[in-house]
Amino acid sequence: MSTQTPVIDPETARHALWHYGANGGYQPGSFTQRLMEAMDAADIDNFHILAGVYPALGAAVAAAKHDPNGIAELQRIAGVRCSRCWGDDGPFTPAGLCEACARPMPLGGVM
Ligand SMILES: [Zn+2]
Repeated sequence: MSTQTPVIDPETARHALWHYGANGGYQPGSFTQRLMEAMDAADIDNFHILAGVYPALGAAVAAAKHDPNGIAELQRIAGVRCSRCWGDDGPFTPAGLCEACARPMPLGGVM
């Protein structure tokens, strides 16, 4: 069994957000929808079997379901939440920062 944490890509994060009705989600294809339903309904043994085959989706579903900060983390991955201040007031830069965090803040007025 791998001990590595699977990397959740932005698309997978958006799919899990959609499944849990959270802001920033979008609807995946019917296969992924049913896969997430199956993961959601599975007992722990069957969940691990499914997550072993679809590690990123398994990690996203587990995060949304069991981690109190999971939805916020998925929103950060999906690019609908600032990766610095965790605010959800977009738009966001390609680096995942909100406008306030992306704005250069000169200290001491020295350029
Ligand atoms: Zn921010």
